[in-house]
Amino acid sequence: MAAWEKNVRRVIPYTPGEQPNCTDIIKLNTNENPYPPSPEAMAVLRNMDGELLRKYPDPTAGGLIRELAGYYRVKPEQVFVGVGSDDVLAMSFLTFFNGKKPILFPDITYSFYDVWADLYRIPYECQPLDNNFEICTEDYKKDCGGIVIPNPNAPTGVEKDLSQIEEIIAANSDVIVIIDEAYIDFGGESAVKLLQGYENLLVVQTFSKSRSLAGMRIGYGFGNEKLIKYLSDVKFSFNSYTMNPAAIAMGAAAVRDDAYFRKTIGNIISTREWTKRELARLGFVFPDSKSNFIFASHPKVPAVEIFEALKAQGIYVRYFAKPRIDNYLRISIGTDRQMQALITFLEQYLGENV
Ligand code: PMP
Repeated sequence: MAAWEKNVRRVIPYTPGEQPNCTDIIKLNTNENPYPPSPEAMAVLRNMDGELLRKYPDPTAGGLIRELAGYYRVKPEQVFVGVGSDDVLAMSFLTFFNGKKPILFPDITYSFYDVWADLYRIPYECQPLDNNFEICTEDYKKDCGGIVIPNPNAPTGVEKDLSQIEEIIAANSDVIVIIDEAYIDFGGESAVKLLQGYENLLVVQTFSKSRSLAGMRIGYGFGNEKLIKYLSDVKFSFNSYTMNPAAIAMGAAAVRDDAYFRKTIGNIISTREWTKRELARLGFVFPDSKSNFIFASHPKVPAVEIFEALKAQGIYVRYFAKPRIDNYLRISIGTDRQMQALITFLEQYLGENV
């Protein structure tokens, strides 16, 4: 080891899902939205004035913040935006989890949480989900340095009842509780309505899933004004210009196009419910999902084998070789046609292999 390596901040990075460089696959591995972004958001991109790109962007991303504040009925001072919710979450870890006590999050959850905790040297303690992949409320009622819970959880898709989420927030008034709502728009109940009652609550959402803009990298968070100010102070100590002009303007246009948002979400929910029925018919078991993916296991065929067989067929889903979940596949909800192709293949494959 070279001497300089002793001073390196070493981390084991997060591994994102595969982004293969071909268009002829059915891509159900990264929970992207199968529908294009809002036509109004696309028009903003097409008509973007080069002058806006010549200059630095608005460091406050005011146009986007105002649109989000209006839509979600909060004050602009209660909104924070970032380069995807990953950026919002990473900034939040850095800002709020600055104590000596461990932060708490589920053992089966978004696999970036432990990476950020390690990166920032934040102690953490994972709380096991029960055998139905449910978060146990009581596990989050103890002395800790903060809490982060995705609702619905990933990769399980399981939603925790908002009254239970509120219990956790209320029991932890001394620390910040982050509710990561990346998948909330697919049928869950948002904690945004709890903001008035709890100044320790930060709700984080994203444009990547329900607004079909994963490539634009837009995330946002809501909290009380003091909390958002602390978060902004850290952000402005890190990088003034996180949001580019295209992201600011397209994000605002996507929020305005509520009819398109509701229509595409409605499609995804009905495709998800159809897929649940079909997977159950083929013998798969899965916890009920309120997200845009289903976390499924087959009692007779190992998940890794199904994963490989699907991939050979050009159908990409996500497989995690991790304790407790290594016999599950996370299948994102695509278009009706994509899901029909998945089910047709699985039916034939299971017919030959069971
Ligand atoms: N939270 C959860 C639970 C997620 O699954 C994801 C998607 N990988 C994110 C946050 C981050 O999404 P993005 O940065 O695209 O907003």
